[in-house]
Amino acid sequence: MTSVWADLEPLLARVQKPARYIGLEDGIADPHHHPAKVSWLLAYPDTYEIGLPNQGLQILYEILNERSDAVAERTYAPWADLDAELRANDLPLFSVDTHRSASDFDILAFNLSAELVYTNVLNMIDLAGAPVRQAERGDDDMFVVVGGHCAFNPEPLADFIDLAVLGEGEEVISEITEVLHGWKVDRAAGRAVDRASVLRRLSKVPGVYVPSLYEVTYAEPVDGEPMGRIAAVTPRFDDVPATVDKRTVADLGEWPYPKTPLTPLTEVVHDRLSVEVFRGCTRGCRFCQAGMITRPVRERPAEQVRTMIADGLQRTGYNEVSLTSLSTADFSDIEPVIKGVLADQEAAHQSHPDAMSIGCGTTINLPSLRVDAFTVGLAGEVNSGRRSGLTFAPEAGTWRLRQVINKLILEEDLYGAVESAFSQGWTRMKLYFLIGLPTETDDDVLGIAELAKNCAEIGKRHTHRASVTVSVGGFVPKAHTPFQWFGQNTREELRRKIGLLQDATRRNGAVNLKWHDADASTAESVASRGDRRLGRVIERVWREGGTFQEWGEHFDLDRWTGALTAEDLSLDWYAFRHRHEDEVLPWAHLTAGLHHDFLWDDWQDALAESGVEDCRWTPCYDCGVCTGYGIEHVVASPVAPAGGSQGTGQDLSRGHEVPVTLGATR
Ligand code: SF4
Repeated sequence: MTSVWADLEPLLARVQKPARYIGLEDGIADPHHHPAKVSWLLAYPDTYEIGLPNQGLQILYEILNERSDAVAERTYAPWADLDAELRANDLPLFSVDTHRSASDFDILAFNLSAELVYTNVLNMIDLAGAPVRQAERGDDDMFVVVGGHCAFNPEPLADFIDLAVLGEGEEVISEITEVLHGWKVDRAAGRAVDRASVLRRLSKVPGVYVPSLYEVTYAEPVDGEPMGRIAAVTPRFDDVPATVDKRTVADLGEWPYPKTPLTPLTEVVHDRLSVEVFRGCTRGCRFCQAGMITRPVRERPAEQVRTMIADGLQRTGYNEVSLTSLSTADFSDIEPVIKGVLADQEAAHQSHPDAMSIGCGTTINLPSLRVDAFTVGLAGEVNSGRRSGLTFAPEAGTWRLRQVINKLILEEDLYGAVESAFSQGWTRMKLYFLIGLPTETDDDVLGIAELAKNCAEIGKRHTHRASVTVSVGGFVPKAHTPFQWFGQNTREELRRKIGLLQDATRRNGAVNLKWHDADASTAESVASRGDRRLGRVIERVWREGGTFQEWGEHFDLDRWTGALTAEDLSLDWYAFRHRHEDEVLPWAHLTAGLHHDFLWDDWQDALAESGVEDCRWTPCYDCGVCTGYGIEHVVASPVAPAGGSQGTGQDLSRGHEVPVTLGATR
């Protein structure tokens, strides 16, 4: 095993933010390497500041280091300055824990949460010293694995990865470790096991997809289209599964990780303790890939949440905790948990008045608020000292369009919440919207300005400092959602709609408009629904210097359009084309458990402006997940949280009828 620290340290004086690379955080594992152990280098393909707080990576890091047959370290994408220094000095990618060379590890495993990081993935494989193309790797090269939400369509990366893990990693990483441990034992005993047969073994682990074991064939172009659609995706061998299912942890309460959260030495995003209170979401927002692919809902037992918060605050010294999930205020035990946490902190402060890590000043963040006055009240209760800004996400400007996208927020719900917030002392409100949604008209776009204007007027009744920031993103259709068939708006159309909003908000000093770059949404769209042919484009963009494409100062759509043209592929066909019902989508052989018919019917319901209810508290409409996997929603309380239904009109008082399992108290 080799540490590159002696050569690396002098370079750090020449780069921005050397603290990104030194490790030494509180909470790190003490990795004990051994030739027989399977060594994982867990990678986040963006900067340290963004990657360190990632909960998924921290959870896997702990679970692997608890195993006797595995060891795990972490790495993050070196910023362009260190990248250049490493290459100029012939140094490899390294772990931040012990600064071992990446080539010392058996597995380089990426957490993928956004598509524009794909070129960073290639760059990190290259820096690690492995061939970028999977087909060129030999028996001694590391295995490259991807997981996270983007792994549900890993086809654009198929040429570069050995495995994609679909769904939650807690159990499957141990199963992968066991297969690779067997491979290492065989090799140590002199029994030759080639890479191809290891991949065959891994393909039999549920949730593991090995792209190289599948053949993709393409049909001739039809109807004047510039490219052929996929004809079929078929396994190359009889023993390789035709369809790969995601993995789901049935009981989140069995996995109280991270137990030792990492405390960075330098400033990072989300610089606070994070405790995941539940996984999954059943509100059914049709644009939301995360909500669709993480079903069903699994809440953590309330007592466990309390314990994780108390232990985490004490261990890290933070005085701020974020309760994370896709919609935290939906946690059915949210009120008692918060009251309990505040009581715990008060008690801790009484018994240790001098302790820095615990005390009355603890702030609890609820990062995803429902639009109702109750959650604003809750936010006020837990966030009494910091009332500068509050965020809601109506997503669309009119009730009609919110029915299309199934974000069933009534205007009176929003105005009630805004009234409640301004009356409790908040002065700034942020409202998130998407433009370019299916069926969107100019009236829907202008409805955003109208909502913002009305919210600002409500605020002015309470404070002259009231302001409303409207943040607008261009909608990007994602795999495994009802909107996966929708052709994205062109850049020109997105820009025109932003222009409409600029005109409509220009004269209102209390409304600030911010928007995301339409070019970046276009590149994201190509990658999010792309097929294997796009690998050539990603490689070309990377080879021409296109790393850190998530970062505005590094992104350039011309790189992508130039690479698509050079590879004889069509941007319009990938990004702006509506897909057909019977079309073989690039991810058709990968499943998050959602029936094709459910997704298609939900897409038709969207076009008919018809919403569906939250199945957590109402009868199942058979999307396929619970029935297919034999799992159910797990909730901490049999009663839906107070505060109404976010405009769904559902009767949430029918707690005794819900199709759920109550989580055990731990
Ligand atoms: S199977 Fe039924 S209860 Fe489960 S997530 Fe789907 S609709 Fe909801």
